[in-house]
Formats: sequence, structure tokens, C-alpha cells
Amino acid sequence: MTVEGKVVVITGGARGIGLATATALHRLGAKVAIGDVDETTVKESGTELGLDVYGKLDVTDPESFTTFLDEVERQLGPIDVLINNAGIMPTGRVIDEPDRVTRRILDINVYGVVLGSKLAAQRMVRRGSGHVINIASLAGETPTAGLATYCASKYAVIGFTESARMEYREKGVSFSTVLPTFTNTELTAGTAGAKGLKNAEPEDIANAIVSLIEKPRRRVAVTRLAGLLVASAKFLPIAVSEFIVKKTGMDHVFLENVDTAQRAAYEARARGDV
Ligand code: NAD
Repeated sequence: MTVEGKVVVITGGARGIGLATATALHRLGAKVAIGDVDETTVKESGTELGLDVYGKLDVTDPESFTTFLDEVERQLGPIDVLINNAGIMPTGRVIDEPDRVTRRILDINVYGVVLGSKLAAQRMVRRGSGHVINIASLAGETPTAGLATYCASKYAVIGFTESARMEYREKGVSFSTVLPTFTNTELTAGTAGAKGLKNAEPEDIANAIVSLIEKPRRRVAVTRLAGLLVASAKFLPIAVSEFIVKKTGMDHVFLENVDTAQRAAYEARARGDV
């Protein structure tokens, strides 16, 4: 299957992985729409790319999501692919996390994905075709200190997407999960990543999403190496995998080792303080 001419909606498309994906798909001739809660940045990105549809979308608000999808269908035609990409990653110890932030992570990362999947699948099932791609994370398969609520949200996205996939596979609607490793976007600002493992670039995730649209699959992990390490960790005794976590420094990457000055702007945006 080719992506040319496909109508693709990307949430959280103003920057980072969402914008890299929009860029790749637009270049290949897809009809791309990006929505983001950050209206100023999404308008800048949409104009720069020369997209027909871009604008404000809050994935936690059913009215906002429905209005955005209606507008896309009015201007571009029926939606072939929805990429539920919007997400936030505040870091720190769970006992210090304000309840407002806990709810915000779950609201955007979990409810937003469930809501988007529902709204898109309702339209797709009626037509007997479509593809929902949900961006989880390898943190959805790896317990990580300093990311407890974020990990919980990504484990939830994987469980939801796999279940929805089973529910709609006979109806012509595909569901896929994307599991990126740490990727160089604002979301990882001020963090060092895992020792010995390179972070991915947003373009790597975008390329994986392009192949997924061309040939729908259940899931894809990026990078392949990080995906293999996480998958194989499940078969190791817990003492061995905890030893690897220590060796790669992952037990402190999102706690003491965060460069708080470098991360401040992202944390403020993610926590909704600005
Ligand atoms: P990013 O911060 O660069 O971009 C995320 C975008 O989502 C932002 O433009 C933000 O404004 C938008 N957004 C936040 N709340 C929203 C809402 N309520 N409605 C609509 N848009 C909203 O982050 P990114 O690194 O590009 O992350 C994209 C996705 O990839 C997220 O789901 C993230 O959890 C996931 N992911 C990222 C990494 C990584 O290391 N960067 C790794 C694994 C998974």
C-alpha cells in the first residue's frame, strides 16, 4: 500500500515525533492534518510545511477532537489513518508528583488515546477500512524509576491498542502500536538516555510509521536494537535485568541525573504551568 493520497491525522503534530511524521508523510504525497493543544506552534509548523489542515486540538476534550476530525473530513475527505501521538512525560519521584500532574498524564496519554481511537474507529468501521496508530513507548514495557505514572500510561496504551486490534481486525480497521526508545525531542530535554544505547531521532520514528501505513502490523519498536533488548529482558531473571538497569544508569536517568535547568522549559509545558 502506498501512503500517497491517504488522509492522515496526527495529534500533537506541532513538534517532535508528530511533526517529523507529518513532514515525511507530506513529502510522500499523503494529505496530512496536524492538531495540537499548542495553537501558536501548530500554526507555524502547518504553514511552514504547507499543509491544508492544521490547528488547535485538545485530545482530552471530546468536542475539540470531534470538531477537528469533522473539519479534516470536510476539507480532505474520509480519514484513512489517525496517529494518536500527543503525550507528555513529566519526570520525578511519584511521592512528589502533584495529583493535578498525575491526572494530566493519564488524561493526555491514556484518555486522549482511547478517545481518539474511539472517534476514528466509529467512522472507519462504518466504511470498513482505516488504521489507528497509537504511539506508546518502550517505557510501556520497562519499569523506570522517575517515570512511574508515565510508564503506567504507556503500559495502558499497549493494552488498549492490542485489545482494540482484536475487536476490529475483522471489520477492516487496523490498530498498531509504536514503541519508540528515547528520542531526541523536547520531551527528553536535560536527560542523558541509557548508557551505551543511542537515542533515536524523530525521523527514525517517522520512517517506522511510514512503513506501518504501507504495511499495517501489530507493533513496531524503534530502534530495533532497543526493542530487542527490552523484549529479551522479559526472559531474564529479575536480578539480571536489574543489574543491567544499574549498569546503563537507568535507575537515576530520570531522577538525580536530570539536568533540571535544561529540562525546566519542557517540565513547565508538560505540567501545564505555562
Ligand atoms: P513533544 O513534546 O516534542 O511533542 C508532543 C506534542 O504533543 C507537543 O506539541 C504538545 O503540545 C502536544 N500535546 C500535549 N498535550 C496535548 C493535548 N492535550 N492535545 C493535543 N496535543 C497535545 O514530544 P515527542 O517526543 O514528540 O512525543 C510524542 C509522543 O511520542 C508522545 O506520546 C511520547 O510519549 C511518545 N514517545 C516519545 C519518546 C521520546 O523519547 N521523545 C519516546 C517514546 C515515546
